[in-house]
Amino acid sequence: MRTVLMPLMLSGAKMLDKHCPRCGSPLFEKDGRVFCPICEHRKKQRQAEMRGVEERLLEKLNELANSLPDEIDELEKHLRAMEKIIELLEKYRKLEGGG
Ligand SMILES: [Zn+2]
Repeated sequence: MRTVLMPLMLSGAKMLDKHCPRCGSPLFEKDGRVFCPICEHRKKQRQAEMRGVEERLLEKLNELANSLPDEIDELEKHLRAMEKIIELLEKYRKLEGGG
């Protein structure tokens, strides 16, 4: 975790005497804000991963929307797939917001 902590210390953040209740790493303070660099780093990583998934899902959704078949059975399959993607996107967005 040195790679997370070093730039932080160089940026003028102050290492506190307290530890993060979640991961046990030392807490830092900068501009009056106390935070855990490890948890923040993980959160950012997770958000980046989620954005990647979200982008791919949106791409697929676009693809499906742009190629709707005329045949009714096929159309139904298409729409069902689109519905699932939209459901997934909503779930991902909730996860992201609650993180
Ligand atoms: Zn932490």
